[in-house]
Amino acid sequence: MTDSLAIIEQIHKSFDLKDFNSLAIPAKAEFFCSIDSVSQLQQALVYAMQQNLKITTISGGSNLVLAADVSGLVLHINLKGVSTSTMLDNTVDISVAAGENWHDFVTLCLNNGWHGLENLALIPGNMGAAPIQNIGAYGVELSHFLQSVDVVNVETGQPEVLTDEDCDFGYRTSVFKQSALDKYVITGVNLRLSTQSVTHVSYPALADLLQGVEPTPKIVFDTVCQLRRSKLPDPKEIPNVGSFFKNPIVSKQQADQLMATYPEIPMFPQKGDFTKLAAAWLIEHCGFKGSRHGKVGVHHKQALVLVNFEGNGEDILLLAENIKTQVAEKFAVELEVEPRIYGHTH
Ligand SMILES: Cc1cc2nc3c(=O)[nH]c(=O)nc-3n(C[C@H](O)[C@H](O)[C@H](O)COP(=O)(O)OP(=O)(O)OC[C@H]3O[C@@H](n4cnc5c(N)ncnc54)[C@H](O)[C@@H]3O)c2cc1C
Repeated sequence: MTDSLAIIEQIHKSFDLKDFNSLAIPAKAEFFCSIDSVSQLQQALVYAMQQNLKITTISGGSNLVLAADVSGLVLHINLKGVSTSTMLDNTVDISVAAGENWHDFVTLCLNNGWHGLENLALIPGNMGAAPIQNIGAYGVELSHFLQSVDVVNVETGQPEVLTDEDCDFGYRTSVFKQSALDKYVITGVNLRLSTQSVTHVSYPALADLLQGVEPTPKIVFDTVCQLRRSKLPDPKEIPNVGSFFKNPIVSKQQADQLMATYPEIPMFPQKGDFTKLAAAWLIEHCGFKGSRHGKVGVHHKQALVLVNFEGNGEDILLLAENIKTQVAEKFAVELEVEPRIYGHTH
């Protein structure tokens, strides 16, 4: 492993994370270090091991809730760089460093004629976090394009490459949220995109807006941006982490029972005998949409989005618990929280 001495000067003590999480929660990192290179990351891991500090990796901070101060060493991944390697059969292979901003990258791809990611425009955050929950929107997921992920193993400090199969992607999940939780720091992502004009417009909200239009990648990109801007609050204006809950997947039998009581309930049939429900509809029908609970609340346009006025992580989690309880009581459906929670004490 690499020597850890050089990194010490770059480690900050008792560091305010308010500007590093999109809920703008004023929690502190016991130790904090911004990481610009793989060798710096390796030094930081040695330092943490020597000092017996737990590692927490953050990037854009748009999918985490800081429930309290974070003990140990918080690594802010800031690696930069985009390179294209091969161009075969109308495809292009692109390697992207973990600290690259996701939306800027999607825009770069569109401008270069590398297609596929247009439906994922405007998702906040950086490249390194994208595989963690297999980001998805408007009928497209990152896993459709991912070839492999470059990581550094937290325990050994050694670089490794995980294939698409190793990542075990699913709906808003991957190996990084399951068996490999906290095992790796992602340093880069390798994608294969199309150099031909491909579009994915079957998702109902997109299909509605594009009726009678011959879609091009640029039109899809612009329409997705327009849809998102009309529905989702900008975290810079109203702090939030996007969808706070996953859309629950229930058995077809349970879905049929719900349909009998609530004929207008939205349902999305899945593979096998399963049905996906819209968490936003369930939350809205418990009366939460647009409600304010002290210093936190539920957004008035999108019931899946919890917003922070001037509260803290505990306020947000209390509201989330309240929502979960009422949805469970009314619909017998269990909601699962989407963002990662850090510093939770109970
Ligand atoms: C307004 C809004 C809209 C959103 N819309 C969507 C959407 O449509 N679809 C969707 O899927 N998500 C959406 N999100 C959630 C979020 O944008 C994504 O999950 C995004 O990938 C998070 O990126 P980040 O860099 O901010 O990650 P962070 O919040 O910094 O981290 C998220 C998780 O990834 C881990 N992590 C981050 N970087 C690394 C790394 N380099 N190595 C290892 N682990 C790492 C962290 O430990 C944490 O557990 C939305 C969020 C907001 C605020």
